Amino acid sequence: MYPSIHINLEKYRHNLNYLHHLAKEHGQTVMVVTKVFCADHKLIDVINTTDIEYIADSKIENLKKIKTDKLKVLLRIPQLSQVNEVVKYSDLSLNSELKVIEALDLAAKNINQKHRILLMFDIGDLREGIFYKSDYLPIINKILTLEHIELFGIGTNLTCFGGVIPTEETLSKLQMIKEHIEKHFSISLNMISGGNSSAIQMLNDDKLPSFINNLRIGEAFVLGRETAYGKQIENMFDDVFTLKAEIVELKEKPSMPEGLLGFDAFGKPSNFIDQGNMSRAILGIGRQDVDCENLIDGPDTNILGCSSDHLIVELKTNQYAVGSVLNFKLTYAGILRLMTSPYVRRVYENNL
Ligand SMILES: *Cc1c(COP(=O)(O)O)cnc(C)c1O
Repeated sequence: MYPSIHINLEKYRHNLNYLHHLAKEHGQTVMVVTKVFCADHKLIDVINTTDIEYIADSKIENLKKIKTDKLKVLLRIPQLSQVNEVVKYSDLSLNSELKVIEALDLAAKNINQKHRILLMFDIGDLREGIFYKSDYLPIINKILTLEHIELFGIGTNLTCFGGVIPTEETLSKLQMIKEHIEKHFSISLNMISGGNSSAIQMLNDDKLPSFINNLRIGEAFVLGRETAYGKQIENMFDDVFTLKAEIVELKEKPSMPEGLLGFDAFGKPSNFIDQGNMSRAILGIGRQDVDCENLIDGPDTNILGCSSDHLIVELKTNQYAVGSVLNFKLTYAGILRLMTSPYVRRVYENNL
């Protein structure tokens, strides 16, 4: 049955151990981020074989189902409507709103616990966090009075919305915040969580400032690439996840549609170049499962486009027939969509 997503557990384990070792050598603890594969339990079992310190996910529903002895971290700012679940199913949560932190304090009080938080600062990427230029000391002052909240540290997130690449100059903004808070309140912050897969180039170049002691890594573990410059990391696999899809139609047809041209099924104007006849295959997969832009062409294929349930591909060799299965490597967004689709079968390879 196709489509199927093939998950090589041994390659994932290799990527985890390789990068964790590198991070450890540079004084970093690591959160392995599991949201892209919906915290799939077989992959969680692989993580459990490593000595990575934390498992992190953006959804509390995922953290709730994860079976592990590792500490669980909620990445997305908690929803006010979920604070009871957050204190119950996470050991640490990333926060930026005092109102939410106060609600977490109350929720933790109700179950007689102390909840740890990382306070997020926005140093220019414009996703989550208190903007670094704002007056954050009163917020910290208030947090420190909350009996059931422990300010475990601070963090920042880059290269997610604004595409801001981590540099020593940008990260020095986080360092100033750390020093300002520690000095003003005479406290010492345990964790400075300074980045995601976009920090790996700095790690590799030995340029990651030493005040940072934690990284939250998702993409690099599944695709073996850093995300600041999009470079492949040496000795890591880019094909932990691959897709197989089946050819349901294979015909020689023109490259140019014929007739008066309007819009495609998704409202985009049609736009074609006449390249003469070509060998065209239709595969049994479509946008409901993955965007065609998220599949990577191999040497035999040229992806032409897709609709909700059809993927149209030009074949460059004649070794395929109806019923043949094509393989594709995937982008991050591709893995995300395929792992979320109930129509895609998961196949685990190289079980540990
Ligand atoms: C998803 C996420 C990460 C992981 O980012 P990658 O680029 O996949 O390494 C890190 N931090 C936060 C807050 C996230 O939401």
